[in-house]
Formats: sequence, C-alpha cells, structure tokens
Amino acid sequence: MNYTNSLDLNIIVIYVNLFKYFIISIHQRTKESIKFNIMKLANIKYKKIIISIFIVFVSIYLYSNKSYSLYELNYIDNVDNDEYNSKKEYYSKRLSLDESSISQKTYIVKKNQNLSVLFKKVGHTTPYTLLKKSTENCFYNLKINDELIFEFLNEKLKSVKRKSKKIDCIYDVKENIIQSRDQVFETETERFVFFNNISNSFYSAALKSGLSANEIMSLADIFGWDIDFSIDIRSGDSFGVYIERTFVDSNYVGSEIKYAIFKNRKRVIEAYRYNDKFYDIKGNPLRKQFLRAPIDFYRISSKFNRKRLHPIFKKVRPHLGTDYAAPKGTPIYTTGDGTVIHKGTKGGYGKTVIIRHGNIYTTLYAHLSKYHKKLYVGKKVKQKEIIGYVGSTGYSTGPHVHYEFRVRGVHKNSLKVKFKKGRKLKKGYLSEMISNHKDNSDIYSWLRKNYSHTAYGKK
Ligand SMILES: [Zn+2]
Repeated sequence: MNYTNSLDLNIIVIYVNLFKYFIISIHQRTKESIKFNIMKLANIKYKKIIISIFIVFVSIYLYSNKSYSLYELNYIDNVDNDEYNSKKEYYSKRLSLDESSISQKTYIVKKNQNLSVLFKKVGHTTPYTLLKKSTENCFYNLKINDELIFEFLNEKLKSVKRKSKKIDCIYDVKENIIQSRDQVFETETERFVFFNNISNSFYSAALKSGLSANEIMSLADIFGWDIDFSIDIRSGDSFGVYIERTFVDSNYVGSEIKYAIFKNRKRVIEAYRYNDKFYDIKGNPLRKQFLRAPIDFYRISSKFNRKRLHPIFKKVRPHLGTDYAAPKGTPIYTTGDGTVIHKGTKGGYGKTVIIRHGNIYTTLYAHLSKYHKKLYVGKKVKQKEIIGYVGSTGYSTGPHVHYEFRVRGVHKNSLKVKFKKGRKLKKGYLSEMISNHKDNSDIYSWLRKNYSHTAYGKK
C-alpha cells in the first residue's frame, strides 16, 4: 500500500475533529439531560458517540496497516536534547592543554603572488621588517613553490614561517624578529602514563587521570570496535594508557597513544600501535569491518526484534533494524567501506541511503533529514564518512536513524552480528611491532598488573 503524507495529515485532522465533537456532545449531554428524558438521549446522542468511536477505531486500524508500521510511532520517544547537549559538551570540554588554540594556514607561493598578497589573505598587513631588504630578512626574496605557514594562537597571528629547499626561517610577530629554524625550533617528546578505575563515567575517570579531551576521544576510538562506550561501561572497569606528547618550540602540537589497555567487565583488551593502527599482541587488528553504530552519542530507542507484537492489535510485526535516537542534524556515518546504491525517499523509511559493502553486506539508513551534499548513487564511501543527517522523515515521530544490516539480503541484528576479523599482521611486521614496544614492556606490565584485574571495588 502506498500512503502519502497528506493522508497522514487527513487522519490527524479527522482525529482532532472527532475529539472536538466528542467533547461537545458530552457537554451538551449534561446540559440537555435536565431538559430531555433519557430515552431521547439514548436515541440521538449515543448513536452519534458510538459512530464516532467506531470511526476512530477503523482509522487506527487502517493507519496501522501501512507499509511501514505504526509501532515505530509508539516506541520512539523524543530524544532528550538537553541530555545530548550536556553529553556533547562534556566530551568537547577542553583542558588547559588546548589543541584548538593553535591553528595554521599554509600557502604554496604561486606565480604573481608576493608576501603582501599572502598576508592580505590572512587579514594582516605585511610587517615592515619583512619588506625591508637586509641580510637577516630571509622573507625578502620569496619564490614560486616556497611554502609560507601562518601560525595563529587564539586566532591572533603568532608567527610566519618560510620553507623552501634552502631556506627555513621564522618571523615572530610579537617580538618582530626573524630567526632561522635551527635557532628556534626544538621538538620535544614527553612520555606519559595515565590510568584510572571507572566508578560511573568513563569520561570523568579519564579526565581525572590527566588525559585531554582529544586524547580521551582517541582512546575511545581505539576500543570503540569492541566496547560500546554508551552502554557497555560498568563500575569496576579500568584503563591504562601510555602516550607521547609532542611539543614544538614548547608549544603542544599533538599526542600519540602508543599502547592502551582496557578492562570492560570480564574482558581485557590491549592495543599496540603499529604504523598508526592498533593491534593486539598476536597482530590482530582492533579495527573491524563495520562500526558498531552509524552515529556518535546515541541512545538505542528500539532494538531488532523479529517477533515484536503490535501494541494495539497484538499482531506480530517484526522490527528489522535498530533505532538510534539522536537530535535532528546529528551526522550519520556509513558503518563500513562501500558503494552507495540508493539515495532517495523510500515509503515509510523517508529519506534513505543504502550502501553495498562487497558482495555480501548492505546497510540501510532511514528517516534522514537531509543527505550529505556530495553523496550520489555510485559513490564509493569510506567507513565513518558522513552520508547524511538525523531526521524524522517518513513514518517516525522523533528524530532517529533506523539502521538495517543485511547479509546476502537477509536482515540481521547489527548488534549481534559477528564480523570477520581484519587481516592479521604478517610475521615480519608483527615482530617489528613487538620490538618497537620492547623498551616500554615494564610500563605495560605494570599497567596490566594494576589496571586489568578485578580485585578492587565491589564485586
Ligand atoms: Zn526502526
């Protein structure tokens, strides 16, 4: 059956009118009962009431039989926007170690471009020191293909660097001096170990341990394949991280997690960095073929259920996907690498995207408010690429993504599907990985001993 939105609207209008009529008739009934006898009322007024109740039930019945079912309307409650925002704020709250305060703009000098043109691009006038010809002024003779890097601290121009094969120097805006690179740049790497037991929230435990907001997100990304941070975390869980922070010219520029361990209930997962990916000690990659969920910061509002009974008619109506409630506009990711095979409105699903992953798997994302601008049928997408945004199109009362996972066309519960493990590291690479971490083995075993056992807290 093909229903349209205008029909939905008509039904609502009918409901409203019937309700109005119902109230008026009850009201009249009490008023008129003084003037008329009961028999007369039974004949005229009750008949109307009974007919209106009958119409209500018939329309509910018709409405529930449409191509996409009514139960979604009953089961999906609105996302608590405040809850979402506080969580989001929580996650993006930054420590004094603030990565975002430093930003850079890099330009490769093109034909007809000079220093003034590039300074103008960043909204700054060219300092006189850089225009004046002198022996120190290595900015004077700018050449095509030179690299000019503007560095900003809290959006204020802090320094300008010129890089070429022969020249490598920096201009400090505040001090108004030019120096060659080897005079000023000192790259330092500091090693840190952070650990904590989790009593209620992973985030607050991680924050207390000394990790920065971005580092916490990286840590959650490493284990996000095996642990669902929004539902799996329990009191008594714990983690340990070995991390290296890099400072250039005593400015913090970034961190790299080298090793991490996470105890979640009875599971202990270890992650070793190798070539910017993470593996267990046997060389199995932690990254999986599919993400656990198509959005961040979600709440599951309806699970996969083949035998769910219809709340009114007690008929079996399967829900062949998982619903993730999130505020309208939340980005939706593709859960795996693949090709877009459908982008468009699909009955009760509303705005829908379907992606094929190899020959076996397809994933479906429904009720989108809009698609990603650059999405088209046939496009190759990478895992965690944004494909659209959460909405409530089609048959849905609150904003959520209805996510379906099919194996050879058969619906599967995405929360329970066991995915193939990624390709294991070959022997040579594995031994290289292990030898890269050899120097830290004392730190790792200390973390393993102290942050992967169950002998603390309540049992
Ligand atoms: Zn659903």
